[in-house]
Amino acid sequence: MEFAYSPKVQQLRERVTAFMDTHVYAAEAVFDQQVSTGDRWQPTAIMEELKAKAKAEGLWNLFLPESELGAGLTNLEYAPLAEIMGRSLLGPEPFNCSAPDTGNMEVLVRYANEAQKKQWLEPLLRGEIRSAFAMTEPAVASSDATNMQARAVREGDEWVINGTKWWTSGACDPRCKIMIFMGLTNPDAPRHQQHSMILVPTDAPGVKIVRPLPVFGYDDAPHGHAEVKFENVRVPYENVLLGEGRGFEIAQGRLGPGRIHHCMRSIGMAERALELMCKRSISRTAFGKPLARLGGNIDIIADSRMEINQARLLTLNAAYMMDTVGNKVAASEIAQIKVVAPNVALRVIDRAIQMHGGAGVSGDFPLAYMYAMQRTLRLADGPDEVHRMAIGKYEIGKYMPRDMPRSK
Ligand SMILES: Cc1cc2nc3c(=O)[nH]c(=O)nc-3n(C[C@H](O)[C@H](O)[C@H](O)COP(=O)(O)OP(=O)(O)OC[C@H]3O[C@@H](n4cnc5c(N)ncnc54)[C@H](O)[C@@H]3O)c2cc1C
Repeated sequence: MEFAYSPKVQQLRERVTAFMDTHVYAAEAVFDQQVSTGDRWQPTAIMEELKAKAKAEGLWNLFLPESELGAGLTNLEYAPLAEIMGRSLLGPEPFNCSAPDTGNMEVLVRYANEAQKKQWLEPLLRGEIRSAFAMTEPAVASSDATNMQARAVREGDEWVINGTKWWTSGACDPRCKIMIFMGLTNPDAPRHQQHSMILVPTDAPGVKIVRPLPVFGYDDAPHGHAEVKFENVRVPYENVLLGEGRGFEIAQGRLGPGRIHHCMRSIGMAERALELMCKRSISRTAFGKPLARLGGNIDIIADSRMEINQARLLTLNAAYMMDTVGNKVAASEIAQIKVVAPNVALRVIDRAIQMHGGAGVSGDFPLAYMYAMQRTLRLADGPDEVHRMAIGKYEIGKYMPRDMPRSK
């Protein structure tokens, strides 16, 4: 694995950093103020301005490896850029690189037909609309995706969809025009062929956004995380992606890129927390000394640096594996970083909060919101334990006799 940034990546790093320094950090307070004024669930003017600026500078769709529709970067090349964007919760969207759109666009690139690409992928790539991924359900343990109960039943040349999803991120945003719905299409099929992914327009009759779900009190407006009801929703049969019963195949492909993008951004957020922690520790004095010189604070800073660097190297390694051997073979590496990166970021943010005292949990610093958002990543896209299960199975699998029965 090559550790040095290529000239192309180095130049993009400088440009993305300059954009963040010039436009994004300064926009954080403006964004908060605009969201708090009037209808919280409307897009903000400041975000549309940032998008137009980044697009004009050619800093657009930097994800999307193996496709002429993106910027032509590999996962390894994109990782340091996503890290810089991840330093701010506003960072990814100006570059059209935010969740869940990046993962959804990768699905559409790979599995949608030409008409679907024209209708949904093209406006997503232009940043005109947004998308959602509707898999998790309130009624069943959704960390086991074979549990999904929402039904899609074929009637003639249509699907009829019924059920309730929740934590459908982005569905509260009026710009969200399309959902990738994971539904039970054949309960009699083998376990991993019972579900399908189907494109459902958000404005289809019978789709109802029931409520936004807050995270520790943060509603994440105007994006939001929605509970969504599907009541006799009818969509054309050809809206099924890849084919009936092939939802798991897509999930394996989709969740790889989506997960690693989260990890790259988590590392950026941890870096920002460490920066804030260091600045605070040398700018405030207690008991006659700067905070950095009290107790074990210097060790806490050192531990944070070491943990971030370890998480970054593991993430880059997973990205390298995805590029060289494919998402399926890199499954254990992707699972490893999905556990490591959010946990490291959480520890560093928590330490930064502590170094800030009461200010750390206030709204005057981004730390409290960062903590809340990072905490969700120990659940979203699969809880830590499910990834540990996959990593552990892979490890013991190396030593299993070939004739030994394997648990599913
Ligand atoms: C902010 C946020 C955004 C999200 N966005 C989306 C989205 O856009 N689309 C979407 O479909 N979903 C989304 N999710 C949902 C998320 O993916 C699920 O919450 C997650 O998969 C867990 O499912 P569950 O909540 O049903 O927990 P359950 O399946 O009920 O699991 C509960 C707990 O059981 C334990 N557990 C589960 N399996 C194991 C195991 N094998 N070993 C040991 N312990 C285990 C874990 O501690 C786990 O946290 C989001 C969630 C959050 C919080």
